[in-house]
Parts: sequence; C-alpha cells; structure tokens
Amino acid sequence: ALSQQQGLDVHYAVSGDGPLAQILPPVLLEKVSARYRAAGVQLETQKTLQEIRAEGGRLVVRFEDGHALNCDWVVYGIGMEPNRALADIADLKMALGGIAVDAQMRSSDPHIWAAGDLATYPDPVWGTPVRLEHWDNAEATGHAAGLAMAGETTSFAHQSLFYSDIYEFGFEAVGICRSSMECRTALSPDGAQAVIYYLQDRRVRGVLLWNVWKKADAARALIAARTEVRQASWKGPLQNW
Ligand SMILES: Cc1cc2nc3c(=O)[nH]c(=O)nc-3n(C[C@H](O)[C@H](O)[C@H](O)COP(=O)(O)OP(=O)(O)OC[C@H]3O[C@@H](n4cnc5c(N)ncnc54)[C@H](O)[C@@H]3O)c2cc1C
Repeated sequence: ALSQQQGLDVHYAVSGDGPLAQILPPVLLEKVSARYRAAGVQLETQKTLQEIRAEGGRLVVRFEDGHALNCDWVVYGIGMEPNRALADIADLKMALGGIAVDAQMRSSDPHIWAAGDLATYPDPVWGTPVRLEHWDNAEATGHAAGLAMAGETTSFAHQSLFYSDIYEFGFEAVGICRSSMECRTALSPDGAQAVIYYLQDRRVRGVLLWNVWKKADAARALIAARTEVRQASWKGPLQNW
C-alpha cells in the first residue's frame, strides 16, 4: 500500500529470504520479490531488527548485521504471542503455546472450551496437534466450541483456509504450508498461476493456490484423501478438479 503512494521512498526489511519466505517456494518468492522491486520498494532481506530509536526528529532502525535505515515512519509486523494469562490461572493443559483442546474444543477442564488463535486441537485429517492464526480458523473453531457447549458431540472436521493479496497476485491456502516442507510446484504454462503441494510422508498436507480460485474445496479433498504426489504438473490433480 505504501509503495502505491506518490513520492514515498519505501524500504521493506524481512528477517528471511524475502516476503512470505516461510510459505512460498523459491519460484514464487522470486516473483513476489521482483514485483516489490518493480514497484520501487527496496527489499532488504536477512535483516533482523535490533532497535528503533528516535534521533533528530527522525527514526533510526538498526538491524543485527549493523545495517541502519533513517526514516520518518515505521510499520512493523513481528508476529504475536498468545496471551495465556487466563489459561494459566485456570491451570489448563497447554500445547504448542496454546490451550490443548479435544475435537470438540474442550480443554483439560471439562467446563472450559477454547477456540481461535489460542486453541491447539487435533488436526481433522492427521490427528496431530495444530494451532492456527487465521480468521477462518477462529470463526470455525468458535462455532464448533459453541455447538459443543450446547451438547453437540460431532468432531471438528473443518480444514481452515487463509489468503492474502500482494499487488495483482492473490492466493488461498489450506492445510499446513511451509516452504521448509517437501514441496511440489505446478506452474501454468504462462507462469501466472501455480499450485503448490506441501508434502508429509509424500502425502499432501497443504495446498497453496496461486492466482487459482474456487479450488479450496478440491484442495481440502486432496488433503483429506492424503493424496500421494510424486511429481506435480499443471495437468496433474488439477485435471480432475
Ligand atoms: C495485523 C494482523 C493481520 C492479520 N491478517 C490476517 C489475514 O489477512 N487473514 C487471516 O485469516 N488472519 C489474519 N490475522 C489473524 C486473525 O486476525 C486472527 O487469527 C483472529 O483475529 C483470531 O481470533 P481470536 O478470536 O482467536 O482472537 P482475537 O481476535 O485476538 O480475540 C481475542 C480477544 O480476547 C480478548 N482478551 C484477551 N485476554 C482477555 C482477558 N483476560 N479478558 C477478556 N478479554 C481478553 C482480547 O482483547 C481480544 O479482543 C491477522 C492478525 C493481525 C494481528
């Protein structure tokens, strides 16, 4: 948004290899980085923030490698930590930094349910503990907790989705998508679209749909079926969607 304003000199510093490097495979990371540069943004990679100090009416941002930026404004996003104060008072069992709940969002205290960013629940497909920080997850787990409190006993089965938009690019992702996982990338012939399969034990654990729309349910089905992907091609699982 800042790079679309007239006359602003915008620097974008990230601690990793580029924007969303923890999610995107190298081919998309390169596209995204090139797009920021084309918009005039100075990308500064491998920059870990050390301090922000006011000096002479401006701000000086210093990074651990000694590099510094002088600027008028800083927007920073450095993640969040769950506020576990209430959970600690109630002595609830914790997992992955959140409140451990079962498939009905019920905590270790049978009178307390948890949902959203703070809830660590069994993955609906894999059964392993998962804690997600997305609004779709917050909405769906909140709904499930409400139903459970009212007596519903069905296990939580929703695979939540997250999305983002960067300039004219957009993506939706389902499941666990980390670039550190084994990935298979299928690019469209013109390179404008892509489907990335994130694998665990050769099975699809997450799917990222890059400029591909209305396929989230199909992606969920691939994950639910624990589909094996050896090689991803644009005519692969997509063909059957
Ligand atoms: C800058 C930013 C951008 C984001 N962008 C996206 C996005 O593009 N897409 C996406 O899917 N998700 C996004 N998220 C994540 C999304 O906002 C969260 O996953 C979602 O809001 C979690 O909902 P929640 O109800 O679990 O927690 P919250 O929305 O954090 O609500 C928890 C509430 O509990 C209150 N609270 C805490 N402790 C107490 C207490 N002791 N007593 C009473 N109240 C208390 C808090 O004040 C807060 O109002 C973003 C988050 C941030 C911060």
